[in-house]
Amino acid sequence: LLLCFLVSFSEAEYRKYKDPKVPLSRRIKDLLSRMTLEEKIGQMTQVERSVATPEAMKKYFIGSVLSGGGSVPAPKASAETWVKMVNQIQNAALSTPLGIPMIYGIDAVHGHNNVYNATIFPHNVGLGVTRDPVLIKKIGEATALEVRATGIPYVFAPCIAVCRDPRWGRCLESYSEDPQIVRSMTEIIPGLQGDIPEKSRKGTPFVAGKNKVAACAKHFVGDGGTNKGINENNTIINYKGLLGIHMPAYHDSVIKGVATVMISYTSWNGKKMHANRDLVTGYLKNKLRFRGFVISDWQGIDRITSPPHANYSYSVEAGVSAGIDMIMVPYNFTEFIDDLTYQVKNNIIPVSRINDAVARILRVKFTMGLFENPLADLSLTNQLGSKEHRELAREAVRKSLVLLKNGKSAHKPLLPLPKKASKILVAGSHADNLGNQCGGWTITWQGLTGNDLTSGTTILDAIKQTVDPATKVVYNENPDANFIKSNKFSYAVVIVGEPPYAETFGDSLNLTIAEPGPSTITNVCGYIQCVVVLVTGRPVVIQPYLSKIDALVAAWLPGSEGQGVADVLYGDFAFTGKLARTWFKTVDQLPMNVGDKHYDPLFPFGFGLTTNLTKY
Ligand code: BGC
Repeated sequence: LLLCFLVSFSEAEYRKYKDPKVPLSRRIKDLLSRMTLEEKIGQMTQVERSVATPEAMKKYFIGSVLSGGGSVPAPKASAETWVKMVNQIQNAALSTPLGIPMIYGIDAVHGHNNVYNATIFPHNVGLGVTRDPVLIKKIGEATALEVRATGIPYVFAPCIAVCRDPRWGRCLESYSEDPQIVRSMTEIIPGLQGDIPEKSRKGTPFVAGKNKVAACAKHFVGDGGTNKGINENNTIINYKGLLGIHMPAYHDSVIKGVATVMISYTSWNGKKMHANRDLVTGYLKNKLRFRGFVISDWQGIDRITSPPHANYSYSVEAGVSAGIDMIMVPYNFTEFIDDLTYQVKNNIIPVSRINDAVARILRVKFTMGLFENPLADLSLTNQLGSKEHRELAREAVRKSLVLLKNGKSAHKPLLPLPKKASKILVAGSHADNLGNQCGGWTITWQGLTGNDLTSGTTILDAIKQTVDPATKVVYNENPDANFIKSNKFSYAVVIVGEPPYAETFGDSLNLTIAEPGPSTITNVCGYIQCVVVLVTGRPVVIQPYLSKIDALVAAWLPGSEGQGVADVLYGDFAFTGKLARTWFKTVDQLPMNVGDKHYDPLFPFGFGLTTNLTKY
């Protein structure tokens, strides 16, 4: 009897970490004390879904899985397919002796953008324009619901880069060149994760449960300040500048309980951030008291050396010693595991560093209730692309538009456009192209052009829905001069811009509009009254055409809800957006940011005209 009692007692004791009533720190301590080195290192390993087989999950005790750059279980996969895939991986993790749930992460950077039929919100470059933290928080809430609808509890967002040079291919992911605007946009974090409890200890990660997701402030730190905006390059700035421009939004993120922080590929004054112990451990963990986990970027530790992966064991040592807790490996994970195991066994990396990393990962997993609710059900699938979320995205589009010019003279504004006209022309490569309208990071990493990538409304469709039924809308992607002359158009809407891109593929030294955009502008404007709508991830070269254009609108990358553009063009809503970036005249002025000594922009930071509402 005594033996039975002891056995059952020890079994109860064994499950202490599984008891949600036990205080968090004791759950972590209890679980940590039961883990082998292999299990600990497994927790620190994040692999890509394509290699996350049940066998691998079990054999290596993998702690996290991701969809790298838009990697999906099947083309146009439904929410149900996603849930099934995530649960399958989770079940493998749960079947290990300690049953520690894995955490699945994805880049949901403007809505749940890898997923077919999800609501695609404007990219951050447009959201910064709104200067509306309440709206941004709601977008976080909606995104969390759509991500959870597919069984996923973790997003690699928000990007809180302060892009100082639009030549950077990730400028679209940055809210603003101004640190204060970026700071205010960290309201997306309580939107994604929930509001931290009042008495929460500073720096403690907080995720409010099943309808919320863990967020990730990225890329720590200085990613938006590189030389000529070259992606993954060197940010040359003194310590004061780093703290004043690139660091403030991390302070806010930590205060708001952000669960994770991702390290930047970039270097600061020549030193790789993935190996920067002073900033990762010294500043983020010790000074800011961040208590969530630090994650590397995709093959981020490989890139500590140049060329990448030249000395992987050195990279592993440098990255983990710097303070990175979870490594996005993401494919050759056995090499990582072997190297790290060797280094711990040979006292190259102290066990205390491993325990710190694992404690942080477990803290996030416990806090968000992953142990209690590791498996997703189908109860949220109706959230994906819901009417409410699309309505919210449409509102965000309206508030993100910036009116840069309205009429050849102030007395003769062209906007708002009349809904009633005999015949109007809609032209340009971005008028009827959902893929161009969404930009990169949509369905695939680099984005897609065309209309069948996902569901949504193109700006052309939206214009057709908005004008008077008697108004004839003629669409011609790139009309020539004869076409213009042989028709009698009341006015033209010319919608041109950049093709989709992401990361390094978006780096551009010339910042021109994609061909045939410039010829469309030249062919149409000058012959008919025209409004040019730019669909771009950043300011682009526009000065050479400006005198021909009657009205000019920056629409950034509005996403799936094109109606937001028509709502404002036609005066159902007024233009309210103010530039959150400086609009340059010529690229040789770059970098040029508000507050600079030699500030001579085409349109200054903060600029934006407004319009009257149409009265009926
Ligand atoms: C990007 C990150 C992203 C990661 C995972 C990297 O290439 O820099 O922002 O979260 O891929 O897809």
